[in-house]
Amino acid sequence: MAHAVKELFPNTKLAIGPAIADGFYYDLDCDHSITQEDLPKIEKKMKEIIKSRRPFVRKELSKDDAVKLFRDLGESYKVELLNELESDLVSVYEEGDFTDLCRGPHLESTGNVKAFKLLSVAGAYWRGSEKNKMLQRIYGTAFLTKDELQVHLDFLEEVKKRDHRRLGKELDLFSLNDDVGPGLVLWHPRGAAIRRVIENFWLDEHHKAGYQILYTPHMAKLDLWKKTGHLDFYKENMYSPMEIEGLEYEIKPMNCPFHVAIFKSHLRSYRELPLRYAELGTVYRYERSGVLHGLLRVRGFTQDDAHIFCREDQIEDEVLRVLDFTLFVLKTFGFTAYDVYLSTRPDKYVGKEEGWEKATGALEKALIDKGLKYEIDPGEGVFYGPKIDIKVRDSLGRQWQCSTIQVDFNIPERLDINYRGTDSKDYRPIMIHRALMGSLERFFGVLIEHYAGAFPLWLSPVQISMLTIAERHTDYSKRIRDSLIKEGIRVDLDNDNEKISYKIRKATILKTPYMCIIGDKEMENKAITIRKRNGENVGEMTVEELTAFLKDEILNRR
Ligand code: ZN
Repeated sequence: MAHAVKELFPNTKLAIGPAIADGFYYDLDCDHSITQEDLPKIEKKMKEIIKSRRPFVRKELSKDDAVKLFRDLGESYKVELLNELESDLVSVYEEGDFTDLCRGPHLESTGNVKAFKLLSVAGAYWRGSEKNKMLQRIYGTAFLTKDELQVHLDFLEEVKKRDHRRLGKELDLFSLNDDVGPGLVLWHPRGAAIRRVIENFWLDEHHKAGYQILYTPHMAKLDLWKKTGHLDFYKENMYSPMEIEGLEYEIKPMNCPFHVAIFKSHLRSYRELPLRYAELGTVYRYERSGVLHGLLRVRGFTQDDAHIFCREDQIEDEVLRVLDFTLFVLKTFGFTAYDVYLSTRPDKYVGKEEGWEKATGALEKALIDKGLKYEIDPGEGVFYGPKIDIKVRDSLGRQWQCSTIQVDFNIPERLDINYRGTDSKDYRPIMIHRALMGSLERFFGVLIEHYAGAFPLWLSPVQISMLTIAERHTDYSKRIRDSLIKEGIRVDLDNDNEKISYKIRKATILKTPYMCIIGDKEMENKAITIRKRNGENVGEMTVEELTAFLKDEILNRR
């Protein structure tokens, strides 16, 4: 590809071009602004090079010779890379009149390339720094056979179709607005309806699981974040403090210190442990604008957070409960495949080695007890304690980090939290941070892509759409609508002056699970014909039957 680009645009300088998970890219400094329309031209040139079946020839030379070679070629980026290399011997590959710096290995000849496709063009700063020149990056992919390539291209097409940013707009679920600020999510009524269902479910299930629900402020005095250590180890993710009446305050990046403050609001006895505090807590973290991505990476988000205060000998039991709870929640939302990781002590850590061993052992034992397959991520624990991460797999098999369970030796120590034991002495509790969904924003993004926007009935913003054929059917439809609303069903009545086929199309585009058409026949028979969003006919029902039918599917979250 680099050779083809250089033939088409001879002034191009080559930066770096590595292989990545699903293909490759090359960063180029080219005075021609490469667009999507140029890709077929580049592909055509590549095919010519492939057809010529030229061998790739490896040459080894000293670094000095290589610097001279690439300087003569005008490849200043390669010279910069070479100058930073430690080894004195480097390899280059030649093919025809094209030379590139490369460690290798390579195919024997260009003729070995069988199936490839250039995918997209993007901007990329040299060495990823905004201070450097913006280069042009071309992404491509290659496979051994045309069939394998096609399977991958179909997958990419499906990924594009399910992109939550695109569906968020099409289904009017949420938006991000430059006037409001990047990474700050606006939940539109239809998205908010789904969030309310998720939140209600979350709150009810936490109550059943023995959690107490909290609400805490969005900011706190800067001093609090000094005490917790956030200012030492988390500063780059926090916003600048603001001054109120001569004191500095900070918008919260985490909920933990507030939950600790409530724990400390009075003397705690061993009888109260384990104490489980849960909050849908909105936090704000600084992320560089370049890494923000739809709902998946944002600056303000609501964690489904909880903190469990317990004794050391209660860790395993609590982790077991959290694991059960997590899997139940994930399953309810339609995720049945996941990967589990146990992260152990990193090089830099707080607390005693013995404590780490015990906590890691407890986490591992809980995983074994549950019969969960897991992988160990050595040294990937947080500095304050070991953790379990659960990554769900969506309907396309893609992995998403959602749930996390983390043991914390740091905050209990720093914020000096205690409970009174049976012997009337004070002891330090263990603190477990956990989130099941991670954040509502991110989880919503994953849900949209998982279902491709066709949510199950219980989550759908509108559960049934009533479509009138003519003006004279409006009053009758309104009566049915009102009776369904009273039953807690989310109904939309479309009595616009449009053709019925157009109304069906509108509801289908919005992926409304059920729709019913109201006309003369329906009014006469006092029965409604229900159809699914895929066009399938469900049958004729009375309003009472329809209510029972919908409620059954909603309550069972099918
Ligand atoms: Zn926490």
